[in-house]
Amino acid sequence: MEPPSEATGDPREAVIIGAGPAGLTAAYQLAKSGRTSTLLEADSVVGGISRTTERDGWRFDMGGHRFFTKVPAVEQLWHEILPEGDFLLRPRKSRIFYDGKYFDYPIRGGNALRNLGPVEAVRCVGSYAWARVHPPKDQDNYEGWLVARFGWRLYRTFFKTYTEKVWGIPVSQMPADWAAQRVKGLSLGKAIVNSLTPKRNQKDITSLIEEFQYPKFGPGMMWEVCREKVEARGSKIVFGTKVTRIRRQGDRAVEVEATAAGGGTTTYPVSEVISSMPFGALVEAMDPPAPDEVRRAAAGLGYRDFLTVALVVPAERVAWDDNWIYIHAPDVRTMRIQNFGSWSPFLVKDGRNVLGLEYTVFEGDQSWTASDEELIERGKQELEQLGLMEAADVEAGYVVRMPKAYPIYDEHYRANVEVLRSWLDANAVNVYPVGRNGMHRYNNQDHSMYTAMLSVENILGADHDIWSVNVEADYHEEKSADGPGQGRSGTGRDAPVLRREYLDAARR
Ligand SMILES: Cc1cc2nc3c(=O)[nH]c(=O)nc-3n(C[C@H](O)[C@H](O)[C@H](O)COP(=O)(O)OP(=O)(O)OC[C@H]3O[C@@H](n4cnc5c(N)ncnc54)[C@H](O)[C@@H]3O)c2cc1C
Repeated sequence: MEPPSEATGDPREAVIIGAGPAGLTAAYQLAKSGRTSTLLEADSVVGGISRTTERDGWRFDMGGHRFFTKVPAVEQLWHEILPEGDFLLRPRKSRIFYDGKYFDYPIRGGNALRNLGPVEAVRCVGSYAWARVHPPKDQDNYEGWLVARFGWRLYRTFFKTYTEKVWGIPVSQMPADWAAQRVKGLSLGKAIVNSLTPKRNQKDITSLIEEFQYPKFGPGMMWEVCREKVEARGSKIVFGTKVTRIRRQGDRAVEVEATAAGGGTTTYPVSEVISSMPFGALVEAMDPPAPDEVRRAAAGLGYRDFLTVALVVPAERVAWDDNWIYIHAPDVRTMRIQNFGSWSPFLVKDGRNVLGLEYTVFEGDQSWTASDEELIERGKQELEQLGLMEAADVEAGYVVRMPKAYPIYDEHYRANVEVLRSWLDANAVNVYPVGRNGMHRYNNQDHSMYTAMLSVENILGADHDIWSVNVEADYHEEKSADGPGQGRSGTGRDAPVLRREYLDAARR
């Protein structure tokens, strides 16, 4: 039997694809200007990657989500959406947990050597001295660059494992220009000097913000309240419905077709389309289709995926007050552990706290396809192996998988994005890509929100170039003397540009 198909909606209304920060911001801004819209969301919740998942009354993020921005319009919008008392100002604390000890982050020479103990400290200094005399020949890759500055031992302890967990390929296959952004002119020698001298001498090290804002029930609270406000002004949000086709006439989109989780399609006539769905998938959904070379560019955009294992534990068993700790141990797979009680005391309940073990993965790999039970068991064992607590302390566990959490930058991504963008400009003038996957930008929420705000202004008659939005102007991190890296694009985050052949090999 044919799945049911229906038509609904108002051709004078915009359709917004995705109810994450970008989509909801767009709907909110349109509503403020007196225009209702329909939001189509494939999932069953708001917030996208910035959601707060709720399971059995426990709330936790996909990774912790700090709210910080240098864009006044975004800052103002956060406080317009969420009542003042619901926003907390939280201290930031995050350290590296290695071999049972907590190391400062960013790494400080004196602290690192002290924690490693005298024998290992001597070995590290020796290894550093050796690397100064015999620096790696190839310092264009991240490994060679780091070894030249820290020696092999410290490199293996503090850089190699974590970086490989996050990006999924060997550090020796990553570019060094990105290293210059992350580690900013630091070396072991400088790190030791810095840790022994007053703070003002540390100006060349990336300074990480000390405080951030956080909704008291997690980032999802912002998006849940935003949803209520958008609906109160007459806009609709349809959940469990995935946009699969966009019909074009001439150079305009005229209808959006969405498929419900259980089958059955609904067609919505549109005045404009604001899209935060993955950029490639947006172009692939065009009907009549884009030419083959454009579709090849669409298929060329890649992602890294993410899953979190949330474990409910007695609050008193969590011995650290960091918001999160970095896990450098090579024998456990988790890369970072969130301590949600330190993000907000409102996330602790009945004397229980939630820890979030984070895993970056490729969709379809062994971790991604493992059952929830296996992943929870692995998470418990990893906690025990790390010496953080006993597996038996864990009272409940939940798994959330987040496909396409990280848009990947490879050597073709800029060209691919450019092909899609030019084609859309000429063939779908009323389609506005916004946000993270929507524009294939490794970003923070403020970039997603700001591109949505400016796109709404464009719909209302302005002429902003949203591709040149830079939320880092006057950013909280000190500017690097090394200049912008290839992956730096004014989005609040930087990412390495990885080689496609290495990524393909890692996926296999
Ligand atoms: C681990 C991690 C930690 C982070 N930490 C921070 C932080 O501390 N601070 C910060 O500001 N940012 C942080 N970010 C970034 C932040 O999550 C993103 O910037 C933000 O969520 C992007 O919002 P968006 O609306 O552009 O996209 P998304 O959040 O991806 O939302 C897109 C929505 O579109 C829906 N969708 C996709 N395809 C379709 C379709 N075909 N039809 C219908 N719906 C569809 C999706 O289901 C999703 O709900 C972090 C990201 C990660 C992965």
